[in-house]
Amino acid sequence: MAELFYELIHETYGQFFKMESILFEKKTDHQHLVLFETEFFGRVMALDGIIQTTEKDEFIYHEMLTHVPIFAHGQAKKVLIIGGGDGGMLRETLKHRSIEQATLVEIDADVIELSKEYLPKHSNGAFDDSRSQVIIADASQFVQDTSESYDIIIADTPDPVGPAKVLFSEDFYQNCRRCLRPNGILVTQNGTPFLQPEEIVENAKIFRSLFTDYHFYCAPVPTYTGGHMAFGWATDNTNARRQPLDILTDRFCLSQIQTQYYNPGIHQAAFALPTYIQTMFK
Ligand code: SAM
Repeated sequence: MAELFYELIHETYGQFFKMESILFEKKTDHQHLVLFETEFFGRVMALDGIIQTTEKDEFIYHEMLTHVPIFAHGQAKKVLIIGGGDGGMLRETLKHRSIEQATLVEIDADVIELSKEYLPKHSNGAFDDSRSQVIIADASQFVQDTSESYDIIIADTPDPVGPAKVLFSEDFYQNCRRCLRPNGILVTQNGTPFLQPEEIVENAKIFRSLFTDYHFYCAPVPTYTGGHMAFGWATDNTNARRQPLDILTDRFCLSQIQTQYYNPGIHQAAFALPTYIQTMFK
């Protein structure tokens, strides 16, 4: 009988995966990492018991956290990816020929090496792109110390547990703001509001105090169970979130980027939120 992987999202609710096989498992210097094979979702990675990514549905999350800010910005050249060790965010970012440099700051080198080996389609060669720069460090320290500045910062973090806790702090977002260029945009992985409302409520309080414009946008990622997956949006660029459809369409067509989820209509619609989510931060 195949083993089951249980993910407890909430003290009274979770999900499970039937594991066809365990591909790799270890306690790294930072977290427990397991990679396993499933019949429907393909290969799956979990860190400290929390699902990080699956081969089957990763495209939704990675496309929405890259193409939305990059097409909204319109002139992005430098991108900072916080976390993102599986390489999916780097892959989607570098599909934009206009991006000159993508810096990925990941605390756990094991995640990168094991993702290259067991989840090769995630990075799909992005780590070898001449525009990629990979730094193994605590990203909260990196954004505090760096003198570099970025047009887009993508916080591709786990939930606020373990080494990622610091990536949801006011200090961290303050330093991200310091590292943004004029018109720069910060986007964040912000949990599923239905099950994790505190992630939106807490981030909204911080974003409200630090940025001129903040909001959230959503997409359904099946294995981030609990309904809408929310992404934080924080910037002093008040036009970026309100790009008209024709501008987004021109930019998307010009880019010649192939996507499976993102398109200009979905980009705009993603910012239209259900009332129960709006009331969490209005
Ligand atoms: N898509 C996933 C999600 O929504 O939960 C996140 C994917 S990615 C695997 C998250 C990465 O953040 C992990 O590789 C983890 O090692 C990294 N990470 C956690 N804390 C970090 C920190 N303080 N600095 C840099 N990277 C960190």
